[in-house]
Amino acid sequence: MPDLHQENKALLISAIRNISFGLLDIFYPRHCFACDKSLHEEKNTYICGSCLEILRKTEVKRCSKCGLKLGSGITSSNKGCPECKNASLRFEKSFFVSDNTEPIRTLIHQFKYKKQICLATPLGSLLTNLLHQETICKIDLVVPVPLHWKKKQERGFNQSELMAKKICKKLSIPISTNNLHRIKNTLSQTQLSRLQRQKNVKGAFNVKNPEKFFRKNILLVDDVLTTGMTASECAKSLENVGTNKVFLIALARSKM
Ligand SMILES: [Zn+2]
Ligand SMILES: [Zn+2]
Repeated sequence: MPDLHQENKALLISAIRNISFGLLDIFYPRHCFACDKSLHEEKNTYICGSCLEILRKTEVKRCSKCGLKLGSGITSSNKGCPECKNASLRFEKSFFVSDNTEPIRTLIHQFKYKKQICLATPLGSLLTNLLHQETICKIDLVVPVPLHWKKKQERGFNQSELMAKKICKKLSIPISTNNLHRIKNTLSQTQLSRLQRQKNVKGAFNVKNPEKFFRKNILLVDDVLTTGMTASECAKSLENVGTNKVFLIALARSKM
């Protein structure tokens, strides 16, 4: 059983940190959320310089469709790589900060499950930096992958929405958080096969007001992508209401 009292305390401290660094540092000295190094010397941050350096290295070659790392003979076209060609992923292209390895794995865990929402700022910045490096057409709207309302209520926040807000603020692009809805409270995808995942998320999303997305280039924001079925189902719901192009950006690309 998670200790709810501890979790809520973490959420509260994290929320206060968002507003004020200085005072809290005296009572709760900051440590890197990934490697636990003291951040006494590094101001206004929650991720140490060495961890950030690893995460800013984005020269890895990836499949432009599903983001899988390419190499040793595996190549991709705009239709995808051998891994995703048959999956018919509905988004145009995807971008990732890192594979789901350290330090991003621990950071996502701290952010999502330990409720360290102050990580939204540095993680959102990593996504923004990544976008700066990619050749991508003009984005009209940023849409975080929605959680079912029950899940959002349980967690207290939608991690993708918090990061999406940071991207929008930095790039001055509007955000849409109340038009794409998750209408099915799906099972966790972690234990499911690719086929089961596809079935699990089928029809999970709904667009309330199609006009708002019509002919728009949309950037979907997610935390981790594994088979891509959830993000693809989102993209499908968007395409069905006449969007122009749907791109995806996420922190980590995980393998099944
Ligand atoms: Zn670190
Ligand atoms: Zn691929």
